[in-house]
Amino acid sequence: MSRVLPDRGRISPHCKARRHGDYSAYRYGCRCPHARDDRRIYAKRQRQGRAQPAYVDGTGTRRRLQALAVLGWRWTDIADRFGIAWQPVQRLALLNRLVHVDSAARVAAVYRELSVRAGPSPITARRSVAKGWHGPMAWADIDDPTCEPDTADPDAPVVDEWAVSEALAGRLDPSRLADIDLTEAVRQLLADGLRTGQVRYRLRLSFAQVQRAIRSIRTALTTEETRAA
Ligand SMILES: [Zn+2]
Repeated sequence: MSRVLPDRGRISPHCKARRHGDYSAYRYGCRCPHARDDRRIYAKRQRQGRAQPAYVDGTGTRRRLQALAVLGWRWTDIADRFGIAWQPVQRLALLNRLVHVDSAARVAAVYRELSVRAGPSPITARRSVAKGWHGPMAWADIDDPTCEPDTADPDAPVVDEWAVSEALAGRLDPSRLADIDLTEAVRQLLADGLRTGQVRYRLRLSFAQVQRAIRSIRTALTTEETRAA
């Protein structure tokens, strides 16, 4: 089976190579900085007799980028952090194939930074959910290709992770959250170790609202245990 190495994208505007960014592209004329880096590292590993696979399964990279999109991060927001155009980021997010280890590491790093809060675009978030992509919470092990997203009931309402993050950040009035999203916000704060009173204060909720959210969380937990048993 032949496999096509992914293109990591042109960085030097005048580079005329057909592919960019790794030792193989370098061999065929790419002199972009990431190709130079990769060639240097590859040569060093060869010298040390520990040539490691430069390409790895792309499942985790793809899921991370799609999860960031569900949170409202656009390809351009992510690409800006890498200092590249958005198209290579989109390709990493969409195509089911091998990715360069450095790309995987950079995506994982940006995911650690951005997955804890909402991105700037609710439109991106809605579209991503509509595509059937999953947010960070859906994955028990985001790198495991055999891991199924945690959406046991396909008809169950889906948490709007963007709205939850915005509410937790204080940028969205919690009174505008749907019940399921409010419950998720409460669940996250309790999981962070806040006490009930602190959760109420943080989300400006009534006592009854917090109690109702906690009951929903307990019900969900019980259902999960029943299903697992
Ligand atoms: Zn190049």
